[in-house]
Amino acid sequence: MPAYTYECQSCGDVFDVRRAMMDDSAVVCAVCASTRVRKVYYAPALVGGSAQRSSSGAPAAAAAYTGGGGGCRGGACGCH
Ligand SMILES: [Zn+2]
Repeated sequence: MPAYTYECQSCGDVFDVRRAMMDDSAVVCAVCASTRVRKVYYAPALVGGSAQRSSSGAPAAAAAYTGGGGGCRGGACGCH
């Protein structure tokens, strides 16, 4: 579950909240219990996210496996 950073508009406190991406419930400030909080976005966290790395790595791994011909070397397919 990703953590989001919020900034309280009432007292200025900055805090992290772990919640599901589709969770739309109100976030309450841990210091003053105000619901006037603003989500803070950090660009580096979005760019370097693990989701982007894994999506680009998966196709490369699949291509290497297919090109290696590992299934035929075992002799199970009878192609030689
Ligand atoms: Zn607050």
